[in-house]
Amino acid sequence: MTRQIKAVSLISGGLDSLLATRAVMEQGVHVEGINFFTGFCVEGHTHAIRQKDRAKPKRNNALWAAEQLGIKLHIVDVIDEYKDVLINPQHGYGANLNPCQDCKTFMVRKALEWIAEHDFDFIITGEVIGQRPMSQRKDTMPVIARESGAGDRLLRPLCAKLLPPTLAEREGWVEREKLFDFSGRSRKPQMALATQYGFRDYAQPAGGCCFLTDESYSRKLVDLWQTRGEREYELDDIMLLKVGRHLRPRPHFKLLIAREEGEVHFLEGYRRRFVSLNTVSHIGPLALVDGTAGAADLELAAAIVARYSQGRDAEQVEVEVREPDGVCRTLKVRPLGAGAIPAEWRV
Ligand code: SF4
Repeated sequence: MTRQIKAVSLISGGLDSLLATRAVMEQGVHVEGINFFTGFCVEGHTHAIRQKDRAKPKRNNALWAAEQLGIKLHIVDVIDEYKDVLINPQHGYGANLNPCQDCKTFMVRKALEWIAEHDFDFIITGEVIGQRPMSQRKDTMPVIARESGAGDRLLRPLCAKLLPPTLAEREGWVEREKLFDFSGRSRKPQMALATQYGFRDYAQPAGGCCFLTDESYSRKLVDLWQTRGEREYELDDIMLLKVGRHLRPRPHFKLLIAREEGEVHFLEGYRRRFVSLNTVSHIGPLALVDGTAGAADLELAAAIVARYSQGRDAEQVEVEVREPDGVCRTLKVRPLGAGAIPAEWRV
């Protein structure tokens, strides 16, 4: 009896990994998906808590892709291990704090460990030559294969014909002729293939699979590292950077101000960890104080929070200050004027 050939596919939830996986499944290979949770993933967090994109389906796109493909998905928590990738990337960062090449290498290395443990034969990624300036270039592809240790156990079905044959092709596990030669930034070949496979509702690429490609998010992370004096983080830190308006009126404290109801609910979960402020005389946002704020700092913080409340034009707004242990007091403040929040406070 011939042994069933098995592959694991890195599923981001985007179109490319969906197509690459399907292309290999079409050739009779048993495929399971793997998705690495770094803490920076966009899916299933900000989209889920903000009202703004209510019309969009709230879903984990990796799980959704696996469901479309009819395969099992393994979601692997790599939060701690990923810190070293982000903090010390050998190949540096992209346009923002995205260490894409090191990140890809890390994920392929983790997939390699996984296939060794589970007796699978090779790894699939949805990479396309020339699609991303840092990690998906023709010259970086062999580097990722080599540095991850995967070597030719790594198959990139969407551009395989432009690369040397890999183990899966040489062994006849997949027919090279049935793979693809996609390259460049155009999405047209992928869209045509999606139509051919009958995929209609797939996640649109939005610049990257994680928050590290986002300029504003990266700025907040740099601010966090600078104020702490070390490049470290915990999961809560990086989650909170995704939420709210961040203002740093003084070097020793930052305010996180909810922008909408969903964010208010999310920040409420952190009131036992941070001093929090909310307006009581007028409808207004919830804000957390990150850092050490003295009495004058809290007066300033309250005036800022009042500025974002419905009492912004009032003479006086009452703001409740709540300590993490639940002890509350009320400050009566005059809201800051429109021009009194300088641009340099915005993190
Ligand atoms: S966009 Fe983010 S998750 Fe994707 S390769 Fe780059 S750093 Fe990794």
